[in-house]
Amino acid sequence: MEQKLTLVPVSEWGFFTLPRPMIIAGPCSAESQEQVMETAAGLRDLGIHVFRAGIWKPRTHPGSFEGVGTDGFPWLKRVQSELGMKVCTEVASEKHVYECIKAGVDMVWIGARTTANPFLMQEIAEALKGTDIPVLVKNPVNPDIDLWIGALERLNRCGITRLGVIHRGFSTYQKITYRNDPGWRLAIELRTRYPELPFFADPSHMGGKREYLLELSQRALDIGFDGLMIETHCNPACARSDAAQQLTPEGLGDLLSRIQVRDKETDNIDYKENIDQLRAQIDIIDENLLFSLKSRMGISYKIGEYKKEHNIAILQESRWDSLLAKMIVKGQEYGLSEKFITAVFNAIHEESIAAQNEILAGRP
Ligand code: PEP
Ligand code: MN
Repeated sequence: MEQKLTLVPVSEWGFFTLPRPMIIAGPCSAESQEQVMETAAGLRDLGIHVFRAGIWKPRTHPGSFEGVGTDGFPWLKRVQSELGMKVCTEVASEKHVYECIKAGVDMVWIGARTTANPFLMQEIAEALKGTDIPVLVKNPVNPDIDLWIGALERLNRCGITRLGVIHRGFSTYQKITYRNDPGWRLAIELRTRYPELPFFADPSHMGGKREYLLELSQRALDIGFDGLMIETHCNPACARSDAAQQLTPEGLGDLLSRIQVRDKETDNIDYKENIDQLRAQIDIIDENLLFSLKSRMGISYKIGEYKKEHNIAILQESRWDSLLAKMIVKGQEYGLSEKFITAVFNAIHEESIAAQNEILAGRP
């Protein structure tokens, strides 16, 4: 059973300068005092106030660099005291939580591998009980929205009300351009269900390469994300983890100057009037679409009855293939993509077959 989340608005966390986008930046891993301080200073000069750095790193293979561990906390302390920035790191166990609380870390995030594990989520949530530290929950590695929500619920039940999410995409076996499948649909669904939950995108882990950061960041902001978490390193080529996807602070400054931040709303009367008119037109077209679909289904039922009477199988593939091919050509004349037309007509066909199946089975 899905629960309502009790949330403290992000404007009350004392972390971010609103309005959007809220930026969290810093290296994949804290590697040395020099690297942490140089990167953080570069970010602070850009006006960024929330610094990320992995202290413990969840690596796929043993023997890779697994983070400096608690030795890195004094460096984060310097970032807080000398640069006046907030600091955050990833926690993946109750031990990590206790160490972070002891070190005065300002915010923590839950990594994708941990969100996918309800036992660990419960342990972490209980370890956080009694604190008011903000927690950002990355999506689980697999595209399971309930697992993501479940992690938020566990934290909320333990009294954590400063909650947000980070969308970093999903692992996939298929060969795709990006490191992880963006799966924006899931993020949009979660956003629709919990509009008050602060939403960050992590284009770094989504893209896996610097060159994709701009397009993914722009896409996230266009969808309405509130902020971005972007891996930044003073010398990315020498990074001990995720070297290909990190930007220098200058590179991040350049990215931020190139992204378009669009307003969510406006007071402009002309805009409102025009948009209302266009929306009214859309509403009429949608009505017509529904009416056409209803009429089409009506004929489909009749065909079903007729096939039943004459004992004919429902699926005639050649008829469907030629219909779809014709619609694709026609669609292209109208500037509608093959992908779109195929998806729409396949959905219509599926429904039509299901209805005819019912008729043949004698369940009108
Ligand atoms: C990270 O933020 O450095 C990280 C390990 O990310 P993820 O959990 O998204 O893989
Ligand atoms: Mn990383």
